[in-house]
Amino acid sequence: MNEFDVIRKLSGLLPPAPPEVLVPIGDDCAVLRLGGGTWAAASDMLVSGRHFKGWADPADVGYKAVAVNVSDVAAMGGTPRFILVSGAAPDPETALGVFEGVAEACGEFGVYPLGGDTTGADALTVDVAILGEIEGVPVLRSGARPGDLLAVTGELGASAAGLLALEEGREGFERLKARHLRPRPRVGTGRAAARLGVGAMIDLSDGLASDVRHVCERSEVGCRVDLDALPVSEDARRLAASLGRDPGVLAATGGEDYELLVSAPEHVLDALAETAGLPVTVVGEVTGAGIDFRRGGDVVEELSGWDHFS
Ligand SMILES: [Mg+2]
Repeated sequence: MNEFDVIRKLSGLLPPAPPEVLVPIGDDCAVLRLGGGTWAAASDMLVSGRHFKGWADPADVGYKAVAVNVSDVAAMGGTPRFILVSGAAPDPETALGVFEGVAEACGEFGVYPLGGDTTGADALTVDVAILGEIEGVPVLRSGARPGDLLAVTGELGASAAGLLALEEGREGFERLKARHLRPRPRVGTGRAAARLGVGAMIDLSDGLASDVRHVCERSEVGCRVDLDALPVSEDARRLAASLGRDPGVLAATGGEDYELLVSAPEHVLDALAETAGLPVTVVGEVTGAGIDFRRGGDVVEELSGWDHFS
């Protein structure tokens, strides 16, 4: 069983959803109608040894735990508003260090921490639950239509390259390391994408190869993605090359970029690129069926992203 089998089995155990639940489990966030407003709700957890090691200081872990949740709200086209933070730490100083990073991220993303819980445990663990506000209609994973283009914001592979630099103890590559330790969720761009009416949207947490599958499954469509079109920065290419890694594959499978993947007609993507203030790069198109990664016309087999239970 992988993570997605677990989610499918869990979904089978759920009671019928109350009427306030507009979007149940299975998207970046659930969506609720509460008090006349529309709210996105999600949670995401970071565990020492699994998601980070000794190279991340507690403040980085706290910051990232907030940022990855903010990213899930961004992927619905929402505005992050409130969080609850729970965690386990080996000592009180570490717990306090985590909260310094949480507070910094809250300030940066305009999120208010409502509370949470702490306990002692050997492995530092931080779990954040988030509520975000949605002004119009949430953008779901299920809205991709054949003929739409697929585009990503910003750059891919920088976080994975930063992780390699941290794991290998490489000097330099500070920009890439920062991209891994303190991701920049695309809240403004997610809201603009919702306003402009993109078809589908997801944040790139597990890696494009895995996340594009989620969009295709939910939308009951296929796609063609061109590995050579992926926006990979010069420093990420240099780091990948120095370790004998293929930058295109790293960008497609590395994960944790927290960029947005959107599907939309070309004119919508053009309008998004104008307002986004960051690159919006077409990487492929939505097709009727089948998931097809190509490079120079040749099919690339066996690309997969992050499996949380592997
Ligand atoms: Mg997500």
